[in-house]
Amino acid sequence: MEYLLEQIASYRKEIEGYQISNPQQLEEFRIKFLGTRGLTKSLFAEMKNVPNEKKKEFGQVLNDFKQFAEKKFEHAKASTGNNQSSDNEELDLSLPGDAIQIGARHPITLVRNRMVSIFQRLGFSIADGPEIEDDWHNFTALNLPENHPARDMQDTFYIHQKPDWLLRTHTSNVQIREMQKGKLPIRIICPGRVYRNETVSARSHCFFHQVEGLYIDENVSFADLKQTLYFFVKEMFGKDVKVRFRPSYFPFTEPSAEMDISCFICEGKGCRICKHTGWVEILGCGMVHPAVLENCSIDSNKYTGYAFGMGVERPALLLYDVNDIRLFSENDARFLKQFGSAV
Ligand SMILES: [Zn+2]
Repeated sequence: MEYLLEQIASYRKEIEGYQISNPQQLEEFRIKFLGTRGLTKSLFAEMKNVPNEKKKEFGQVLNDFKQFAEKKFEHAKASTGNNQSSDNEELDLSLPGDAIQIGARHPITLVRNRMVSIFQRLGFSIADGPEIEDDWHNFTALNLPENHPARDMQDTFYIHQKPDWLLRTHTSNVQIREMQKGKLPIRIICPGRVYRNETVSARSHCFFHQVEGLYIDENVSFADLKQTLYFFVKEMFGKDVKVRFRPSYFPFTEPSAEMDISCFICEGKGCRICKHTGWVEILGCGMVHPAVLENCSIDSNKYTGYAFGMGVERPALLLYDVNDIRLFSENDARFLKQFGSAV
């Protein structure tokens, strides 16, 4: 009996170390340990020589050994490809891994980042403010008192329970908040989302993005404004793009202008994008109205400043030749993933 147990232990060791890497070796293993003339069978045959009182114990050891050998066989069978239905598929480390889905930056983010980085190089710092704003910061402080007709051009969404609250129509509220801090000079760029009560169409949406700039110091002139914007246009749209200023009206700037750039799709010849004029309107600008400075407790006799504001969507439409503004907010991965390599 002791001798048999020792023998079983040594067979176990042999099975543990048994190398099976092909069907032939698998068959050799089967014949040696599990075949009709194999070792397991011959061990069972020894049962008759075991004393009766030890038979139960020996039977248990034998059964364990048999299961051990069968388990080794089944494992080896699966890994040598003899059993297609097995769960234990061989691990092939040479297979390529599952591709990780890498997101793309949103086209609006790409264009906004480009705009912001150009002004940052000129020394502008980024300022931020709330999208839910009160009437004073969005309108009144900007020289748009209640009942001012220019308010109609910037109809927005109001909060029913708080009639004084609204969704900001421009990022100029950030300019007001910065001016109120009273730390001069101010040289900021304000990127952000704004809202208008507009019918949603291919050309306009009830929300869009703006980048506004503000520079207030002593002796700031319209020439500084023009030079800054010239630099911006060349960096943003290319060295060959022409610029023109048209007189305009905004309540918060005086004098005011709108700036157009020559259409870089048709190079000024006229196309669908520029409505065959050769020019595309890109931003509004002007010298900060003295009343706005005074509203923010800045001495308008000592300080002057310029401000400008532009949408992000329109340049994005132009730069990427997109024909519908709604695509930017539909969250359609087929559209968005096309910008994976865009800059
Ligand atoms: Zn054109």
